[in-house]
Amino acid sequence: HVAKRSGNQAVVYDAATDESSQQSLSLLGELRRAVDRNELKLYVQPKLSLLTGEVTGLEALVRWVHPQRGMIFPDQFIAFSEKTGFIRVITLWMLDRAAALCSALAAEGMYPKLSVNISARDLMDQDLAAKFSEIMFRHKVSAASFCLEITESAIMDDPVRAQNTLESLHALGAELSIDDFGTGYSSLAYLKQLPVDELKIDKSFVMNMEHDANDAKIVRSTVDLGRNLGLRVVAEGIESDKAWELLAQMGCHSGQGYLMSRPIPANEFSAWTRRWTVGNTARRQAGSDAG
Ligand code: C2E
Ligand code: MG
Ligand code: MG
Ligand code: MG
Repeated sequence: HVAKRSGNQAVVYDAATDESSQQSLSLLGELRRAVDRNELKLYVQPKLSLLTGEVTGLEALVRWVHPQRGMIFPDQFIAFSEKTGFIRVITLWMLDRAAALCSALAAEGMYPKLSVNISARDLMDQDLAAKFSEIMFRHKVSAASFCLEITESAIMDDPVRAQNTLESLHALGAELSIDDFGTGYSSLAYLKQLPVDELKIDKSFVMNMEHDANDAKIVRSTVDLGRNLGLRVVAEGIESDKAWELLAQMGCHSGQGYLMSRPIPANEFSAWTRRWTVGNTARRQAGSDAG
């Protein structure tokens, strides 16, 4: 089992030294302490309509702010957490924090869709839907405010069990998204069979589409596939105006990326959205005046 992605940050968990159970045990202990000591932080990245520029939602992304090592990115502990089963603790913590944010934003009159990443391991938990429902109830927010992002491989691990869990979650009103689409192994038959609402194109294609004709073709075909199946299509990794423009021309509904915003601490989201909305209104005004 190899870590999904390798970043350029200092490596906390190295799959190559997996044999060293010493290292694993201490990381697991540190992760447990991190939860107790509130070192995990909810970061969010805005999701926008590529047609209107309006903020439509956000993606919840975990960060670990370590007292000595500073900011640790998910690439450094999510794969390990999945392998050890600790991911369940992280997932429930993220759902709880996202629900709290949803409630705080509603009090300000903001109703973005909140996307939360769910792992293969979570889908094997028969009680996930019940736990999700309990969290929504406790924070007095609607399951329909949530979109759960699942990778193709998470579904293919055990399609029957995954489908059961996904159907229970969907029955509660949560939307479902296929994350990192195009990078995993999947069968289009499952895509058709599952209660999926959104297709999310992986950033590896989006980030290169201006310079690589094949990546651009993959993005275009994915947008067409998603739209033809009646799904919302989202692009991640939008880093330039050109990429936004190309995606909008292709009919991609929404997107997120460093062009608009990097992931930010959850408590900065409403101020960011207000600032963005002012700028966006001005841009649209200028655009319609010019045209
Ligand atoms: P993901 O779910 O595909 O999330 C999108 C990732 O792309 C995020 O990385 C985000 O910061 C990054 N990104 C967005 N726009 C751009 C861009 O324009 N340029 C570049 N270079 N990157 C961009 P992040 O936050 O480091 O998360 C990495 C992965 O870790 C996520 O990929 C997801 O698979 C996993 N992850 C993060 N938080 C959670 C969590 O709470 N639970 C689970 N199970 N996995 C998580
Ligand atoms: Mg995601
Ligand atoms: Mg993704
Ligand atoms: Mg991705």
